Amino acid sequence: MMYNQFLATGGLWLNLSGTEILIDPGPGCIVQAAKRKLKAEKLSAIILSHRHLDHSADINIMAEAMTQGGFKRHGRLFAPADALETEPVIFSYIRELVDGVEMLEEGKSYSIGNISFTTPVRHIHPVETYGMVFRTAQHTFSLITDTLYFDGLSKHYSGELLIINVVFLEPRTPVDHPSMPIDHLSVPDVERIIVELKPKVAILTHFGMGMWRAKPWETAQKLTDKTGVKVIAARDGMRFNLSQLDES
Ligand SMILES: [Zn+2]
Repeated sequence: MMYNQFLATGGLWLNLSGTEILIDPGPGCIVQAAKRKLKAEKLSAIILSHRHLDHSADINIMAEAMTQGGFKRHGRLFAPADALETEPVIFSYIRELVDGVEMLEEGKSYSIGNISFTTPVRHIHPVETYGMVFRTAQHTFSLITDTLYFDGLSKHYSGELLIINVVFLEPRTPVDHPSMPIDHLSVPDVERIIVELKPKVAILTHFGMGMWRAKPWETAQKLTDKTGVKVIAARDGMRFNLSQLDES
């Protein structure tokens, strides 16, 4: 998906009562943001869930843009240790430009203005990564980033809204695909998680090619029918207003 850009890989842009936060600026983020008139200099923070390219490729340029090329020291970066230490994906000169760099760790909580978020549990993935639970004055929502399904995963991610990375239509085993990365969620995993968490709304994102060919909006509808939870397939440029959660 990343190589042919059938779907954009620019990440998620939050605007929580005026506090703007960018999560996982993958390849093309700068282009997608400019196209949508999202201003990097308005960001208060950039959060990187993990160092894989589809999440991190544009982190340096977005961080530099956040500081207006270094002219305005501003904004913070959050990333796991292995994105910052050996073979860092964030350049050291970029770290000098921002207002601070914080390491994401299991079970910790962080604040950005009047927004707080936690990284409750380390995921099963080839590199260090965590999902996030965000709390604003009005709402709580969770993001489950890349991971292999594991028992107890869902209990960390309650909230009114669940955003979840679903790469595969069907679970993959090392036997089927010995050379492929398999540490990702599939649709049956996501169904189980939605049933366990019962959010008001779930948004599926981060589709692999198989998901894309099967039409994510059809998968979302099937999950809605099966779980009774409103499930939406993300689209490029899609906006979701958290006030929608108050209607249901
Ligand atoms: Zn990954």
